[in-house]
Amino acid sequence: MNEIIRLRDVNKTYDGAVPLHVLRGIDMSVEKGELVSIMGASGSGKSTLLNILGILDNYDSGEYFLDGTLIKNLSENKAAEYRNKLIGFVFQSFNLINYKNAVENVALPLFYQGISRKKRNALAMEQLERMGLADRAHHLPGELSGGQKQRVAIARAMITDPALILADEPTGALDSQTSKDVMKIFRQLNEEEGKTIVIVTHDPGVAAQTNRLIRISDGVIAPDSPGTPEIPQLVISQ
Ligand code: ADP
Ligand code: MG
Repeated sequence: MNEIIRLRDVNKTYDGAVPLHVLRGIDMSVEKGELVSIMGASGSGKSTLLNILGILDNYDSGEYFLDGTLIKNLSENKAAEYRNKLIGFVFQSFNLINYKNAVENVALPLFYQGISRKKRNALAMEQLERMGLADRAHHLPGELSGGQKQRVAIARAMITDPALILADEPTGALDSQTSKDVMKIFRQLNEEEGKTIVIVTHDPGVAAQTNRLIRISDGVIAPDSPGTPEIPQLVISQ
């Protein structure tokens, strides 16, 4: 079984005065080791989809298998267990803790695994070194550039050695050169470490640096976009 992600007819409605049927039967899968982008108009449900993939949110009907396990109506504990074991998250706004320095931010996921402070900080330093940020380790997020902050966030996502990295508009707050640097890191993690990476973006230049583009439109995977990897790959020209 090479699929790490498999969705079949996934639906999601936000309740409210006027219920909003955001995902209307999503069928898609991602194989282990893929580097994939998801594009779609603002409000098309990209973050909703990514949150479901990351077990941060529930869906109403259909099926989501993560690494072969049906993810449906899980308890908070089970959801957290799968998240911690399998998934690293990267967000547009970095989501770093402002009063903790870079190495403390990167080490944080290990705190919940009961690893000693000394070991946590040693592992966090290793990740920061790989991101070329060893000399920034003791700086607060407020003392770092946007690109540096995002590299700290990627180091934090990597520290539990997850099979899957989910990134929601990871370059959305960065200038174009810094975006390229961040995409280079994602490509390296994919090529050299075999990480499966799913990147939501509205930037065609970012999507062009991934190996497959999935387009979401009107709550479904666009018919001309390969939702499954068996279909020949669509590559946007650079
Ligand atoms: P995208 O990431 O593609 O911009 P989202 O998944 O964030 O889209 O949102 C899809 C639609 O669902 C939008 O119309 C948004 O306003 C709405 N939405 C998102 N989150 C919620 C929520 N928690 N409650 C109600 N509506 C929401
Ligand atoms: Mg979004």
